[in-house]
Amino acid sequence: MPGMFDAHVHLREPGFENKETIASGSEAAINGGITGLVMMPNTSPAIDSGTVVARVLEIARSTARIPVHSSGCVTKGRHGKELSGIDGMRALGVKMLTDDGDTTADPAVLYRAMQYATEFGMFFASHCEVPELAGPRALNEGAMSYRLGIKGSPACAEEIIIDRDIRLAHAAGAHIHIQHVSSKLGMETIRWWKHRGDVKVTAEVAPHHLLFSEDDIGDFDTHYKMNPPLRTRADNAALLEGLLDGTFDLIATDHAPHTPFEKSQDFVSAPNGITGLDTALVSLHHHFVATGKFGWDLIVKRYSAEPRRLMGLPVVSITEGQPVDLILFDPDKETTFTTEFMKSKSRNTPFLDQTLKGGVDLVVLGGNVLLDRA
Ligand SMILES: [Zn+2]
Repeated sequence: MPGMFDAHVHLREPGFENKETIASGSEAAINGGITGLVMMPNTSPAIDSGTVVARVLEIARSTARIPVHSSGCVTKGRHGKELSGIDGMRALGVKMLTDDGDTTADPAVLYRAMQYATEFGMFFASHCEVPELAGPRALNEGAMSYRLGIKGSPACAEEIIIDRDIRLAHAAGAHIHIQHVSSKLGMETIRWWKHRGDVKVTAEVAPHHLLFSEDDIGDFDTHYKMNPPLRTRADNAALLEGLLDGTFDLIATDHAPHTPFEKSQDFVSAPNGITGLDTALVSLHHHFVATGKFGWDLIVKRYSAEPRRLMGLPVVSITEGQPVDLILFDPDKETTFTTEFMKSKSRNTPFLDQTLKGGVDLVVLGGNVLLDRA
């Protein structure tokens, strides 16, 4: 198959190198059959100017064995007030603007950014969440939050901003990409707008929102704590439906590494997110391809072709005369996600020490063998 491409990755460098670096994160990607990725700008300092982008790309060029693309903030420091250095970032090839981790709370600021940056062919990626409704962002508001006695974040906190940001893009003539959709009504909102056909909207779904629900939190397991939170089994089913019918253009992991110490805190204090690069492809194979829910064609389209198209990159195919960018996947083998196996610096994943069907055997990029387990 062609190499996968992940359009939603937190590499934590600069600023949080104890969680991940551009080098370790890109090795985790290779380990999982991914040959290109887009990093999110919620680093420290935040990636909000040409100066920071230049530095990040320089680190990527010298330490990563796959292409690492950087997104840029919508607002300076991700504070939601002033526009970031959009011009300087565009000059260095930044295409995606996002305050991911947070919503750009002030619609007037986002609207102005859309009117400005759209002229330069840039697009917006939205983390959707009304901050006032989201509470401590620990889990979904529902049966599990009542049982555990923690204030939950209702699905409407996400759905309101999905609709708001698509409406803003509609008015500004901008391209809006909705990140990590977690709820049925959120999916249906995107489907409705796509059906209208008069706004450029794309959307992504993460493997964990397809696979897990609030029920998996069990006894305060922080490996099931992410933002947006895991919702219900009915949401899982609706998200899968949205992936099958094309409401979701792409699969993206929202790879979010954290140290064991941080994740060992109590459920409310522990940070949001799980890693995904090492595990995404094998887990999609195990739970969906091996069970006949969808085929490899969907994975190649949604996890290789469409994310590259989103970034304005050529779609990779295995064709004579084309540059080599391919992986070999063995569906008959098994992968155990031990600490030794995973290349991410962090191990915050529900798949830790699980054995799943399938394995990445070989990764070849531009004539270089990046991984060979064959
Ligand atoms: Zn996010």
